Amino acid sequence: MSGFIEGEDRNQATLFPERLDDYVAEDSPVRVIDVFIDDLDISGLGFKAEANDTGRPAYHATTMLKIYVYGYLNRVQSSRRLEREAQRNVELMWLVGRLAPDFKTIADFRKDNGEAIRLVCREFVMLCKKLNLLTNAFVAIDGSKFKAVNNRDRNFTRAKMKRRLAEVEASIDRYLDQLASADRAEPAEDNTQRLEDKVAALKEEMARLKKLEVRMLEAPDKQLSQTDPDARSMYSRGSGMVGYNVQSAVDSQHHLIIAHEVTNLGSDRAQLAKMGKQAKAVLGRDKLKVVADRGYYNGDEIRACEQAGIEAYLPKPKTSGNRARGQFDRSEFHYKADDDEYECPAGERLIYRFTQMDKGKEIRRYWSSACTACPIKDKCTTGEYRRIGRWVHEAVLERAQARLDKQPGAMRLRRATVEHPFGTIKSWMGSTHFSMKTLPRVSTEMSLHVLAYNLKRVINLIGTRQLIAAIEA
Ligand code: SF4
Repeated sequence: MSGFIEGEDRNQATLFPERLDDYVAEDSPVRVIDVFIDDLDISGLGFKAEANDTGRPAYHATTMLKIYVYGYLNRVQSSRRLEREAQRNVELMWLVGRLAPDFKTIADFRKDNGEAIRLVCREFVMLCKKLNLLTNAFVAIDGSKFKAVNNRDRNFTRAKMKRRLAEVEASIDRYLDQLASADRAEPAEDNTQRLEDKVAALKEEMARLKKLEVRMLEAPDKQLSQTDPDARSMYSRGSGMVGYNVQSAVDSQHHLIIAHEVTNLGSDRAQLAKMGKQAKAVLGRDKLKVVADRGYYNGDEIRACEQAGIEAYLPKPKTSGNRARGQFDRSEFHYKADDDEYECPAGERLIYRFTQMDKGKEIRRYWSSACTACPIKDKCTTGEYRRIGRWVHEAVLERAQARLDKQPGAMRLRRATVEHPFGTIKSWMGSTHFSMKTLPRVSTEMSLHVLAYNLKRVINLIGTRQLIAAIEA
């Protein structure tokens, strides 16, 4: 093979045996994992792995945690693959001192230490804070749907079940019709048998679906997922999927994930205050600015944020069809706080009439007696009067709108901030996304992904050596 670069002879003996440390680069991320985990107060974090006084000694939680963090940082998430990597991957051998737990031990550790792993993820965020990597500016809150292990065909909602039952019933009717016409035409015996077999199989399927329907109706939200009972059918990017809704609060300067939460609710409408409060607690600030998209718009949530010292920036969803119909939009009616009246586009005043409850909210009603003689009424209402409803805490929403008007770039900032973490994590996870089942385990999996994402991000920002020095300081 002359003319080509040649490798070393496998059987060549060396005078001084090489050390495992020689194979690990000085700036390898594995060195960061090593010092970060060694620096943690493992017992204080609540890891369950304990020393075994009798029988075979157990693996220390530090060892197991190192295997997982290394795995998630290098897109190796399955316990079986981690078992193999521990036996052949030089970096992992270096990291855990050539220990090679079997896949069951590896899997059990992740299963049994969800809360402690979540705290480790938080510890790293606190380290980022110590390194002044979390800005004083905005925190963007966003949710993204991640696929569960559960296949769409093994998830049933009322609508889906109704459709499936109707399809099976229609197929049975069709085959029964074919059987009837086959009887009249005296066909070959085997064709009749084939049709009868099909009808029998469909009847079995119908009985199976009926049993599933009973279980589905017993669930509080009338939904059944057969593989992962906690996964839920959700709407994502124009189509349905079965999965989880992962919420995150992301720092707008360095795109680090400050807080995260896995839910199985398809909507983001009840998540704003919870995520804002989590981010605020981590950052340890009295005040915080959060920016979110219109999917989070919810009066109670915006009010809860304000009460907690969180300024929310988010646009109001456009639900009214008035403008499309060529009629005045609600925004064209201006509230005059001093008089507690609205001014309409015709310059008339809508006065307070009464208060009523609407969907659990106290709503004050306003209208003007001038509507009946108004020259532009056809552009305003088809009813006798144009009525305006005002939530008793509407001032909270007006303040939120005023803030957003003063910060026109907030929504652009939100988009630029949140797309990076979710896009990166999803590409690491691959097409199937989560590999574990049930909400607590999926949450653990997400914590490991978030930790790996933040770790990689900080390494890219300040470099391995500086990060190691900061941890050791
Ligand atoms: S219809 Fe009534 S509310 Fe509408 S513009 Fe005329 S006076 Fe004002």
